[in-house]
Amino acid sequence: MTAQTPRTVAPATDPQTAGSPLAPQWLGVPDDLNHLHEPMWAAGVERNAAGELSIDGMPVSALKEEFGTPLFVMSETDFRSRARAFKDSFDEAFADICGGVDVYYAGKSFLCTAVVRWVDEEGLRLDTASGGELAVAARGGIAGARVALHGNNKSDSEINRALDMGLGRIVVDSLAELDRVGTIAAARNAVAKVMLRLTPGVHAHTHEFIATAHEDQKFGLSMAADSTDRTGLSAAEEAVAAASAHPGIDLLGLHCHIGSQIFEPDGFALAAKKLLTFQAAVQSSYGIVLPELDLGGGYGIAYTPVDTPRPPAEIAQAMADVVRSTCRELGISAPRISIEPGRAIVGTSTFTLYEVGTLKTVRVDGPGVQEEATDGPASVTHPRRYVSVDGGMSDNARPVLYDADYSAVLASRTSPAAPALSRVVGKHCESGDIVVRDVYLPEDVAAGDLLAVPGTGAYCWALSSNYNYLARPGVVAVRDGAARLIVRGETEEDLLNRDMGVASA
Ligand SMILES: *Cc1c(COP(=O)(O)O)cnc(C)c1O
Repeated sequence: MTAQTPRTVAPATDPQTAGSPLAPQWLGVPDDLNHLHEPMWAAGVERNAAGELSIDGMPVSALKEEFGTPLFVMSETDFRSRARAFKDSFDEAFADICGGVDVYYAGKSFLCTAVVRWVDEEGLRLDTASGGELAVAARGGIAGARVALHGNNKSDSEINRALDMGLGRIVVDSLAELDRVGTIAAARNAVAKVMLRLTPGVHAHTHEFIATAHEDQKFGLSMAADSTDRTGLSAAEEAVAAASAHPGIDLLGLHCHIGSQIFEPDGFALAAKKLLTFQAAVQSSYGIVLPELDLGGGYGIAYTPVDTPRPPAEIAQAMADVVRSTCRELGISAPRISIEPGRAIVGTSTFTLYEVGTLKTVRVDGPGVQEEATDGPASVTHPRRYVSVDGGMSDNARPVLYDADYSAVLASRTSPAAPALSRVVGKHCESGDIVVRDVYLPEDVAAGDLLAVPGTGAYCWALSSNYNYLARPGVVAVRDGAARLIVRGETEEDLLNRDMGVASA
């Protein structure tokens, strides 16, 4: 069962604007290299009268002056408005079904205490996945009842911490963990509020989803009946029965998370259908009514001009239609729905500001016909420009980890120069250290220019490292024309802090 829309753009036919044969098929030559493709940029980002990229009226040169580069530049306004858009559109679409939706911001995408505060103030809740993320949540001042804890391998101390904080839900990932959570809670004379993470066999990414009967992944309780098991029951069914019987557990409902960077609602809809069907079966076999259902995160964003995610209201509507009709068909009342967007709230709020250093142009063999060739077609070479910036895979690991595509613009000025197929690379000792694999930049980009890479709010700072002893960049939040560091950049002192020193002889 596969729905697929190929991610292509019609090739340029005008020879004046024909792209490099080295470019991937989806990458068109922009009409105007200075243009900002709106879906990729945060609210308040524009070019000022001088042509410089600015946010809320603050030019990037001023941000560089004050905070240095590389720098994560985040619009608090944009973050808040996307958070609100999810909450409002899902509340509206599900109003008649379950009175609204609980939106849990997936903290792993980017978390600091300021973000905890924004999430709380906008009426969202918070997903965490470790003791460290719980510590940030606590420091940020959100009530434990509005926080969830995920993870396939929670430690006893993380479970205890969750109970100390009075967490709203612990999302249990396995039968063994269910028993552990119940035992720890019962020993404290407490009752843990639990959701069970199931694997519905739906995997979605961007334009397609696949459905499988069995799951080959570390997360979750399988919904497939297990023929090797004595009971013949699925792990999911065993877990529901065990959770309901356990004095240390209050079973709230079921949970699933089907993928990431998903544009189409059909995968979410199928997963919802599978979980509701399971829920109805549990209700009729065991008389257990589950009041909640969490459909996870994974909503996509625009990293490049060919990415066309749907607005939250459209996804919400499609999901609500399926939940409404499925519950009607199954004859069950709808559970309270929750969702867990991360990337779609924070991703577009942020761009990374870099300074350009070394430049080089290489010639690469590619398709083409040599004009003077007498012995038939021969391969010709095409230029590719390497633009080195002062960060790299340490502040954006996604191109290396996931082959993720990004885009970039010249930020410190506009340029009338012709487009040059460019590769933005970092300064690490690694030839795979790529920030933007393919982008057309003005051919006069020079050392000292500033580059901006949009869409770096999610899973960039969060995945950052100190590879090559680079200091991790700070994050500056902009709101109403004022910039404030919400996470300072590391210093050389920070880098040396944990080094215990040379043993004295
Ligand atoms: C990562 C994750 C999310 C958030 O995913 P996004 O793609 O950022 O929306 C939500 N729920 C769970 C369980 C996750 O692991």
